[in-house]
Amino acid sequence: MTANKLADSQLVTLPMLIDGKAVPAADSGRTFDSVDPASQMPWARVPDGDVADVDAAVAAARAALTGPWSQTTGFGRARVLRRIAELVMRDIDHLAGLEARDSGRLLRDAEAQITFVADWFQYFAGLAETVTGQTIPTDHLDMLVYTEAVPVGVVGAIVPWNAPLLLLAWKVAPALAAGCTIVVKPSDYTPATALALGPILAEAGVPDGAYNVVTGFGPAVGQAITAHPGVNKVAFTGSTATGIAVGKSAVTNLTRVTLELGGKSAQLVFEDADPEAALNGVINGIFIGTGQTCIAGSRLLVHESLHDELVAGLIARAKAIRIGSPTDTNTQMGPLVNGIQHAAVLEHIAVARRQGATLACGGGIPEGLTGWYVEPTIFTDVHPEMDIAQKEVFGPVLAVMKFRTEEEAIELANNTKFGLAAGIWSQNVHRAHRVARALRAGTVWVNTYRAYSPAAPFGGFGHSGIGRENGLEVMRAYSETKTVWVETAGATRDPFSIR
Ligand code: NAD
Repeated sequence: MTANKLADSQLVTLPMLIDGKAVPAADSGRTFDSVDPASQMPWARVPDGDVADVDAAVAAARAALTGPWSQTTGFGRARVLRRIAELVMRDIDHLAGLEARDSGRLLRDAEAQITFVADWFQYFAGLAETVTGQTIPTDHLDMLVYTEAVPVGVVGAIVPWNAPLLLLAWKVAPALAAGCTIVVKPSDYTPATALALGPILAEAGVPDGAYNVVTGFGPAVGQAITAHPGVNKVAFTGSTATGIAVGKSAVTNLTRVTLELGGKSAQLVFEDADPEAALNGVINGIFIGTGQTCIAGSRLLVHESLHDELVAGLIARAKAIRIGSPTDTNTQMGPLVNGIQHAAVLEHIAVARRQGATLACGGGIPEGLTGWYVEPTIFTDVHPEMDIAQKEVFGPVLAVMKFRTEEEAIELANNTKFGLAAGIWSQNVHRAHRVARALRAGTVWVNTYRAYSPAAPFGGFGHSGIGRENGLEVMRAYSETKTVWVETAGATRDPFSIR
């Protein structure tokens, strides 16, 4: 799969993290290589874990759960989380460099994501201090009834390769805030930053065993986490197919699950849109991160009156995108993460052509570059039932469709099994709200795209997932509600009557 190889001595060794210790794979001692997508060269050697490592990590997480971490109050956890945020910012250059090398993400985008990581820990520090139970009024004069949020327990966090540290922070920050402990399985393509977070958490005061990282492959490590009886909740981000397998496996132990899955998000450009703003938003929606984002605005639905002008503008902008090394500050689009993804994206392009979509620009491999690059690609004359309009490509490929009426636009937008995100471009405030209400998507952006906050819930309808991350809402996913009834009259009740 790789074009060249570094000498073994030049590879960085990245041990996994179990119970505060840097360790190799317990049973096999086997390793695999992490590959730099821009050079196609292995750069790091990582333990190839299995069930034995997951067992050890879960045991460590359970011990930390009932041990030191359970003795830390919400206020104490908040102090630790704020310190993590500071340390993440202190180490931003190191973390962003690792992320860019491992995933091929642009260095400046990786830096921006690391600042988000710090924001997430700051925000959840606040929630660690403020999330409370409730006192429940009931029909019983002589009962005090209240609820408590109890940590759900050991969390298995399984993450993909496209935004490795940020998507991990979306799980680790609320889990720690709620008092949980964690076993992480990073993607085998991008294990570096999950491992680099370990020493930061330890320095901030997270006890040994509360954050463990088991590296390896999905069918071994990921599957072992989802099926483990000692794991109370699985927080998964990845593809829909894997998410369904994760859900099936977790349910055998009634393990709680949240699933953040794929998408085929639509950008709807109405005739009353600001054309320049819409053009910019569509470019951002599909080409940032080389299209490897779950919320990629991979379907453009445009009013027929704007179609030709908008498509011409998009083609001009797409052709001008500077493709190259993720670490070059001039680069606007880097490589895809690996050879498998590269081949898959090219196959999606070939299928779209075979099915009759018109290739308006791109579609090939840019010349003169070594990594897994694909040109920014735009298809027009797309029929809503074509694969390119229905299947997640996870690459820089835009499918353009025309509509005549608002109803038609809504119908087209809702015409996939997914429901992660959507963008509406219209200067008519009535229409913007009307369409936002009609769209079946977990996030709807109006006259913007790809805005995030740790305070704003994020997740999908339909095949885009189950549950929400971020915001106050996610704290429920990391806790169990306990209801406590206290009899205050000191009376004895009729044992044979419910009242
Ligand atoms: P993937 O499903 O192949 O892998 C995700 C993770 O699951 C990896 O760590 C992988 O090793 C692990 N895994 C694989 N098989 C497993 C199994 N049987 N049991 C448990 N774990 C297993 O996804 P990917 O290719 O790494 O990431 C791309 C996908 O992620 C896209 O579909 C994208 O839309 C989705 N994604 C969704 C969101 C969101 O928030 N909704 C965000 C980013 C990415």
